[in-house]
Amino acid sequence: MSIATIKKNDMVIAMRGVSSGKTGKVLLVDQVKGRALVEGLNLVKKTVKKSQDNPQGGIKDIEAPIAVSNIRPYCPECKRGVRVRRRMDGDKRVRVCAVKGCKHVFDR
Ligand SMILES: [Zn+2]
Repeated sequence: MSIATIKKNDMVIAMRGVSSGKTGKVLLVDQVKGRALVEGLNLVKKTVKKSQDNPQGGIKDIEAPIAVSNIRPYCPECKRGVRVRRRMDGDKRVRVCAVKGCKHVFDR
């Protein structure tokens, strides 16, 4: 069963690639492509055209999509990227940190 372990507004950590070890907030998830935009992760330089907001134009750092398989939810209690389990909390499905002894719930 395929489950979405990463959701918008999650704090995640990059497991590999140039941003490895960095954490950021998920801005957007593309389930179809299996990629996510994460604030501050996988930055690329982009040329910005002159505009009213940016009269000089120039180069700006923007986030490029990162493969979901390269990021993991960041557990604030374990202080690292973790796997998550699914659990029913009343009638709501929540994601729980899979580390033994840690009961951190990602969905509030
Ligand atoms: Zn944990």
